[in-house]
Amino acid sequence: MSSILIFCRDCGKQVPSGETRDGRCLDCQVRVSVADVPEKKTRLWRKRERYRGRQANVEQIGRQIARVEDRMGQRIKSLVSNERQAVDLLRRELEAARGQRYTIKGV
Ligand SMILES: [Zn+2]
Repeated sequence: MSSILIFCRDCGKQVPSGETRDGRCLDCQVRVSVADVPEKKTRLWRKRERYRGRQANVEQIGRQIARVEDRMGQRIKSLVSNERQAVDLLRRELEAARGQRYTIKGV
């Protein structure tokens, strides 16, 4: 295992070179790999809010959101071999996406 520390080119954190790819730490790799997904989710969430009260549509959009989350999980798993770590990272990205949604809603 390599003990050489390098600086992540995105967040500047010092990480073992063995954990980096393209000069990015694992956190940043995950963030980049799912970067387009939260935006998709945000759109679906807003759609769901608009349709609230019309049950059929809400259910359908709920399924679409679940699919988007699945895709995020698959991308993260392809980067992270450790199952538990992958789950933690997915949870964090989902939280971040949720936070983004509230930010957009408040505008
Ligand atoms: Zn980083």
